[in-house]
Amino acid sequence: MAEVIDGKSVAEDVVSKVKALTAELSAKGVTKPGLAVVIVGEDPASQVYVASKSRTAKECGFHSLQHTLPADSTEEQLLKIIGDLNTDKSIHGILVQLPLPGHIDAGKVIQTIAPEKDVDGFHFINVGKLGTGELETAFVPCTPAGSMLLIERVRGKDLSGLNAVVVGRSNIVGKPMANLLLAANCTVTIAHSRTKDLPALARTADILVAAVGRPEMVKGDWVKPGATVIDVGINRIPAPEKGEGKSRLVGDVAYAEAAKVAGAITPVPGGVGPMTIAMLMANTVASAYLAAGLKRPSF
Ligand code: NAP
Repeated sequence: MAEVIDGKSVAEDVVSKVKALTAELSAKGVTKPGLAVVIVGEDPASQVYVASKSRTAKECGFHSLQHTLPADSTEEQLLKIIGDLNTDKSIHGILVQLPLPGHIDAGKVIQTIAPEKDVDGFHFINVGKLGTGELETAFVPCTPAGSMLLIERVRGKDLSGLNAVVVGRSNIVGKPMANLLLAANCTVTIAHSRTKDLPALARTADILVAAVGRPEMVKGDWVKPGATVIDVGINRIPAPEKGEGKSRLVGDVAYAEAAKVAGAITPVPGGVGPMTIAMLMANTVASAYLAAGLKRPSF
C-alpha cells in the first residue's frame, strides 16, 4: 500500500513556521504581516473559505482585515477598495475571493491588485515570473505551491529527470503546477480534455497530478507502480450509504485502487486541501519580508 501523504500535518508545519517568522519580524521591530480579504456577495462556500482564511491569519499573528461587500456592489466600488489596499503600508497581501458576481469583471479586478501584494499569484506579473523561473520574487498560486511541498516531502527537492504528468490546464492549478515541476527539472506533460489515450500517458508518470474536477476519474491501472500521486480534485458525490440525501467528498483519483499501486498518494479530504490556506499565509509572510527588504523565507 502507498504511503499516505498527510497534508494536514504538513500544513500545520507551514503555519508553525509562518508564526515563527512573524514573531521574528516583530522582534526586529518591523510591521507585522497584513492580509486583506475582500468578498462580494453571500455565496455560502465563499463565506466559509474567507472565514477560515481570516481565522488562520489571526492564528499566525497577522494583521487581518476583511471587507464584505453586498452582491450588488459596483465594479468601481471594488476597484476603489483595492486601490486603497494597494497603498496601505500595513497590508502585504490582498485576496479577492472568487467567484465574483457576474456584473464584475474578475480579470480586471485581479489585474488591479499590486503584483507585490498578489498573494494568490494570479496577476500577469506573477504568472510571467513563474513562467520564466523568477521564483525568488514570484507569488505562486497557493494550491500548486502546496502540492509542490507535498511532492518534495516524498521525493526531496531534486526532482531532476522525473516524468511528471499534470492532468488539467487551468490557470489556477494545472498550468502553475506544470511550471513548478518544470522549474524543478521534471520532464512535464500537461494533459486535458482533448488528450488522447490519457491512461497510457498517465502510466508514464513518476509524479501524477490530477486537477480535473471529475470524481474518481483516474483509475488504479492508470498509475505507474511506485508513482507519487497528488489528487487536487474536490468533488461532492451522493452517499446514500450514509443516509438519505447525504454526500461525501472524493478526489479526481479512485483512491482505494490507486493506493494499491502508487508509492505515495494524497487522500481527499486531508491531502492538498489543507495546504492551500497554509500557502496563502506563507505567501503573505514572504511578502512582508520582501517589503521590509529582508531575504524571502523558504518553505
Ligand atoms: P477547471 O478550471 O475546471 O479545469 C479542469 C481541467 O481538467 C481543464 O483543463 C479540463 O480540460 C480538464 N479536464 C476536464 N475533463 C477532462 C477529462 N475527461 N480528461 C482530461 N482532462 C479533463 O478546474 P480547476 O480549477 O483546475 O480545479 C480542478 C479540481 O481541483 C476541482 O475539483 C477543484 O474543486 C479542485 N481544486 C482544489 C483546490 C484545493 O484547495 N485543494 C483548489 C483549487 C481547485 P480543458 O482545458 O480541455 O477543458
